[in-house]
Amino acid sequence: MSADQPHQNLAIIGHVDHGKSTLVGRLLYETGSIPEHVIEQHREEAEEKGKGGFEFAYVMDNLAEERERGVTIDIAHQEFSTDDYDFTIVDTPGHRDFVKNMITGASQADHAVLVVAADDGVAPQTQEHVFLARTLGIEELIVAVNKMDVVEYEESTYDEVVEEVTQLLGQVQFNTEDASFIPVSAFEGDNVSEASDNTGWYDGDVLLEALNGLPEPEPPTDAPLRLPIQDVYTISGIGTVPVGRIETGVMNTGDSVSFQPSDVGGEVKTIEMHHEEVPEAGPGDNVGFNVRGIGKDDIRRGDVVGPADDPPTVVDTFQAQIVVMQHPSVITAGYTPVFHAHTAQVAGTIESIDRKIDPSSGEVADDEPDYIQSGDAAVVTIRPQKPLSLEPSSDIPELGSFAIRDMGQTIAAGKVLEIDE
Ligand code: GDP
Repeated sequence: MSADQPHQNLAIIGHVDHGKSTLVGRLLYETGSIPEHVIEQHREEAEEKGKGGFEFAYVMDNLAEERERGVTIDIAHQEFSTDDYDFTIVDTPGHRDFVKNMITGASQADHAVLVVAADDGVAPQTQEHVFLARTLGIEELIVAVNKMDVVEYEESTYDEVVEEVTQLLGQVQFNTEDASFIPVSAFEGDNVSEASDNTGWYDGDVLLEALNGLPEPEPPTDAPLRLPIQDVYTISGIGTVPVGRIETGVMNTGDSVSFQPSDVGGEVKTIEMHHEEVPEAGPGDNVGFNVRGIGKDDIRRGDVVGPADDPPTVVDTFQAQIVVMQHPSVITAGYTPVFHAHTAQVAGTIESIDRKIDPSSGEVADDEPDYIQSGDAAVVTIRPQKPLSLEPSSDIPELGSFAIRDMGQTIAAGKVLEIDE
């Protein structure tokens, strides 16, 4: 990683077993992102056991281990660089809280790589993830048609998968012109960093070139300050120190800020980043700060900090578009699950199901349906049972999405359409 390259957060999405973790391992391996000492250590171990240097296999084991640790570490950060960008993979492949993490995690994805196995084509989670990515505002997709080795690198099979995925993207109104397709084998390494002889019929970009060619994300510095509070500490000599990650805007010492929904505020005295005092912090920065006159009991996790003259919105009821990922039965009006938005977790009631949307056309499929179920998309009206700070997704996307959880799993994902005054 280098300090002067722009940063990209990348999600790796796709159906289970289509090769997401293998592709992540391959990307890290081929970009030299596995530290030399780790490879060296493995080499020694392998030699002791009388085996050759199976570096790639080692990467895979390492990732599997991280996945297991994923129970405690919410997001396992995997990083690599291309010529122009530093990438962080925000996926935790196979992690059952992937959707929640994508919404409330430390990193929101700028772009996504959709992995589709050539021998299987579009599968249920392919559809689900594409629709989800669309709902969450990811606009650029790289489609890795994986496991080309399994289908003997056949051009005709690749073309069929491209056709199938193109149809799916069109159905959810994804900008198909901006989607690029690449035939790869994560396992064998074809077309990841170098053009493969096995696919002589393909002359497009290899995966790393396509990643390097993604548009640069614009840091949301022009938007108003929005800083969801993760924790509140008391530090001797300083006082109360709320910490969190700035989602949008800029915070300067001397700024007058407001915490919502706690509805308190004051002047920013100091800002700290990486244990150093800084005069200013911006989007993506993890900060601890101190506000004159604010005590530990005045504020809490889930508060959002904004400028006093443009404070974060506190919602009473709001309309949202949701996608139901997995629910054992049906969702009807009156259902009261837990909403996870940025750092907040609040019970809320789905007061009405206003209309069902056909995911394959984006059109209204049914007005005021009696219920919705897994695989459905709908516009609903929600009333949080406690004050909650959210923004319309069209104004501040970073503060406009949420996950719906119940029974220990993510039931649905959504974005805020409109907030009732
Ligand atoms: P995930 O569930 O999408 O993360 O899938 P994994 O990366 O765990 O891969 C599922 C299985 O497919 C594993 O056994 C991998 O070794 C295998 N696999 C992944 N990519 C390829 C590939 O390009 N070619 C072949 N032959 N097998 C692959």
